[in-house]
Amino acid sequence: MKIHFLGVGEACDERCPNTSLHVTAGKGQRFLLDCGFTTPHLYFALSSDQDELDAVWISHFHGDHFFGMPLLLLRFWEMGRRKKLVIAGQQGTREKITSAMELAYPGFLPRLRYHLDFVEIEPGQVREIAGTIWSTAENIHSQRCLSLCIADSSHRIFYSGDGRPTRETETLAAGCDLIVHEAFRLEGEVENHGNIMNCLEFAGRAGGKHLALVHVERTCRETAKIKVAGLERSSGPHVFLPEPGDMFVL
Ligand SMILES: [Zn+2]
Ligand SMILES: [Zn+2]
Repeated sequence: MKIHFLGVGEACDERCPNTSLHVTAGKGQRFLLDCGFTTPHLYFALSSDQDELDAVWISHFHGDHFFGMPLLLLRFWEMGRRKKLVIAGQQGTREKITSAMELAYPGFLPRLRYHLDFVEIEPGQVREIAGTIWSTAENIHSQRCLSLCIADSSHRIFYSGDGRPTRETETLAAGCDLIVHEAFRLEGEVENHGNIMNCLEFAGRAGGKHLALVHVERTCRETAKIKVAGLERSSGPHVFLPEPGDMFVL
């Protein structure tokens, strides 16, 4: 698998685009994990192939995770996309995406020449999407958010979305080659978000090989770089703080 960190930031970070991962899995299937305000322009700077993307995952319905969807869908229409696009997420994903599209570009949804295949993946359910296996678990966030595990024949990755880890997300992350977790703060109890030390313990218990920390609060990011550089020398999972545009290959 290949993971391209299009963005690694929180909602308000003017220097770091919203957290969004472009994943290449299996036999070259392409997935986009979360699509916030800043994601579509980064995505289209990377790809000029209208049919490249197989599926989008939306972890929850905060703007920095799904308000890029109308522009993504519009641009695919403009580029002449014909291939169906899977849009996966929790219950209610279809309603949220269609409402956002209608607000952003009224009357445009029926004009799309490609099919939107909405796939809901509630915790406990397992879905096959483009030859890979997707499953979810609920974490603790200010609105309901699902963490995601994607497995192909060789590797498994975990993406937290926003939120504090739970026993359920730890079970989902067990044995994953790469855990991508949000760590909004450096330390201390943070309501509805992870912090660096919690994430490290989480990845250690889950047995993850690599831990990428994303969605760090913009005022903490520079300090987080120093802290994480120190952690890299300690035992446990290999931990890193990706920069926007970084690629990680499993
Ligand atoms: Zn967020
Ligand atoms: Zn959020």
